[in-house]
Amino acid sequence: MTDTNEITVFDKIISKEIPAQIVYEDNDVLAFNDISPQAPIHVLIIPKCKRRNLNQLVESGSDSEIVALFKGVVKVAEKLGLKEGGYRIISNCGTQAGQTVDYLHIHLLAGKELGWSPA
Ligand code: 5GP
Repeated sequence: MTDTNEITVFDKIISKEIPAQIVYEDNDVLAFNDISPQAPIHVLIIPKCKRRNLNQLVESGSDSEIVALFKGVVKVAEKLGLKEGGYRIISNCGTQAGQTVDYLHIHLLAGKELGWSPA
């Protein structure tokens, strides 16, 4: 998956063109409930820096953006009180992984015992 610079649904959620249930927001990241939750808690955390996928973000060498994104994950987990029960984070990169939105995002899943069956 390449950076096509196409406007994605996540761009539109950032610009508030598309509504979303915002869980957390700061200058660097936006976190909102997934429209099709795969667990009782399913939040998407995205950077506001307009990079489209994780590989490109890593290749950009922008450590501060990556750190900010993962700090955003921790902030969401803290805000939702997940420290004790735990949570899982996933980032689908590319077609075979099932990435459907061409904008870097991290899934945070929690709220039940999670299975492990990516097949
Ligand atoms: P991917 O499959 O790319 O890893 O994850 C994209 C996620 O975005 C999916 O879990 C999908 O349900 C979610 N999604 C797609 N469109 C929207 C939308 O308009 N609003 C919200 N909140 N989530 C969306």
